[in-house]
Amino acid sequence: MAVSKNHTVAAILQAYECGQRHFGESRPQELLQKTQQLPKDIVWHFIGHLQSNKIKMVVPYVQLLHSIDNESLLQDVEKFCAKNNIHTQCLLQVHIAQEPQKFGFSLEELLQFFMQNKEQNFPHVSLQGLMGIATNTDDMAIVKNEFLLLQALQKQIQALKPTLSFAQLSLGMSHDYQVAIEAGSTLLRLGTAIFGERG
Ligand SMILES: *Cc1c(COP(=O)(O)O)cnc(C)c1O
Repeated sequence: MAVSKNHTVAAILQAYECGQRHFGESRPQELLQKTQQLPKDIVWHFIGHLQSNKIKMVVPYVQLLHSIDNESLLQDVEKFCAKNNIHTQCLLQVHIAQEPQKFGFSLEELLQFFMQNKEQNFPHVSLQGLMGIATNTDDMAIVKNEFLLLQALQKQIQALKPTLSFAQLSLGMSHDYQVAIEAGSTLLRLGTAIFGERG
């Protein structure tokens, strides 16, 4: 998926002309504007931290919401979808990095979530897998270890919930996507590697 945040409509169109269809944005307002200006067959992903009051600006427009980073946001997405009689596909964001400021569930918290069968409380949300952002470091051994922890958690959840379609692993950005592939990523989120530096 091409991460097009901070890039112009013209730049996105250029990638579109080359055949790219999956694009990711991280700000609700920017996503909304771009969905209105760009071809309708683009498949949009949302990858940024989402506040509950902006759910309506995002959920109806994206195929996959990668960044459900806490249970109360998940509850609010469920409420929004129930009210509007729609379904949405989401990933659960897990905090794997060493930096404290990154959002997400802890590994233990998420395992507890599934052990307590809480996924059953969200009938309008299809939980498809996990998303993670590794520590921002050049030490790929650290990054790989974090990605592998997430892959292990995904496998553990899948084993616990065999009927859940939980195969997605959104891992890897421009500087660490090769390591992410080695750790089983099914969805790379590439910005700089495709568009160059953001302005
Ligand atoms: C911006 C962003 C990316 C893309 O980062 P690049 O280093 O430009 O590839 C990927 N994932 C998330 C969550 C982002 O916010």
